[in-house]
Amino acid sequence: MNILVINCGSSSLKYQLIDMSKEEVLAKGLVERIGIEGSILTQKVEGKDKYVIEQKMNDHKDAIKLVLDALVDKDNGVLKSMDEISAVGHRVVHGGEKYSSSVLIDDEVMKYLDECIKLAPLHNPPNLIGIEACKDLMPNTPMAVVFDTAFHQTMPDKAFLYALPYELYKEHNIRKYGFHGTSHKYVSAKVAEVMGKDLSELKIVTCHLGNGSSLTAIKNGKSIDTSMGFTPLEGVAMGTRTGDLDPAVVTFIMDELGYTVEQTNELLNKKSGVLGISGVSSDFRDIEIAAENGNARAQLALDIFQYRVRKYIGSYAAAMGGIDVVVFTAGVGENDPVTRLKACEGLEFIGIEIDPVKNNVRGKITEVSKDGSKVKVFVIPTDEEMMIAKDTLELVRK
Ligand code: ADP
Repeated sequence: MNILVINCGSSSLKYQLIDMSKEEVLAKGLVERIGIEGSILTQKVEGKDKYVIEQKMNDHKDAIKLVLDALVDKDNGVLKSMDEISAVGHRVVHGGEKYSSSVLIDDEVMKYLDECIKLAPLHNPPNLIGIEACKDLMPNTPMAVVFDTAFHQTMPDKAFLYALPYELYKEHNIRKYGFHGTSHKYVSAKVAEVMGKDLSELKIVTCHLGNGSSLTAIKNGKSIDTSMGFTPLEGVAMGTRTGDLDPAVVTFIMDELGYTVEQTNELLNKKSGVLGISGVSSDFRDIEIAAENGNARAQLALDIFQYRVRKYIGSYAAAMGGIDVVVFTAGVGENDPVTRLKACEGLEFIGIEIDPVKNNVRGKITEVSKDGSKVKVFVIPTDEEMMIAKDTLELVRK
């Protein structure tokens, strides 16, 4: 059974076609610059040359049409016809409070997704446009949505409520939702499997550190707290996002500096984080090079990031009443030994000890804690697409 996984951004679209009988990726690709000059599709198939199509794409429907063409292309594709796609799994960022797991798309779900736009005006609309386009092009293929927020719906109210007047939660749904749920769910299940332990017996802190970063406290297989909030802006400092901030800073900036809502959003989401501190880049590789060359602000940006990750690990150990495993994943978590080492520095007192030699690893499943470390530390590469495909398959089979 082949599942097509689609992740739509505002002007880009990532896709993977996965053969679930072998859990094997048949093709993966990226469409960029949708609706702008220079639209381009790049598809990779194991054992074949990269397939590139440069063609005008006015909207996401054009893009998805081209994805389907590329998948069935006689020379560069992997399918004889579109009928070989059994189902489509769509990533949707915000699922609000209604869904605590993935769901098959029907009219009711579409209506609800529309209502969720106000909760994630930056992230949800492109996801929905992708679903609509797919439904038009493949009206008879079952489709599922997999929410970034769903895994965190197990958080208790003491963790997800902000100390605002309660009516703001009841009337306007203002609360912590959490994101990257698909990734946190995948790596926590994977680490239990690798350790040969039952997920329901473990206290895990998963650190998804990429361009956007979040940490989750997972107790007995359930998310009990997570660092991102009402939007993906809360938590540790990120590539371009502030992370935790005294909300009075926001009103001060608007009041004293005269920033509009739009300018403030742009400042907090796009110009802050390690980019804002370092003034160098949002990419950790660039910042590390600058720091090695003596750029003090670049070093400060790294220090701030690592310090905040460490504080969250410590606070989640407290929230769970202990900790058995720390997992590092995503671009930085998987590939950056220095960040892992520094983020765990000083946590020996709760039993976290990284082995600097074992830690010198990138992008593969590895235990990086010292032999005898009370708390195990693992690198587990995330695979959100596989998780989406698994959820979709399960729903279609039901
Ligand atoms: P996104 O949130 O966009 O999905 P990723 O999880 O792909 O992000 O992470 C991207 C980030 O990973 C890049 O910004 C880069 O800083 C970081 N990264 C990738 N490789 C390395 C590396 N070898 N060392 C340090 N950082 C890395």
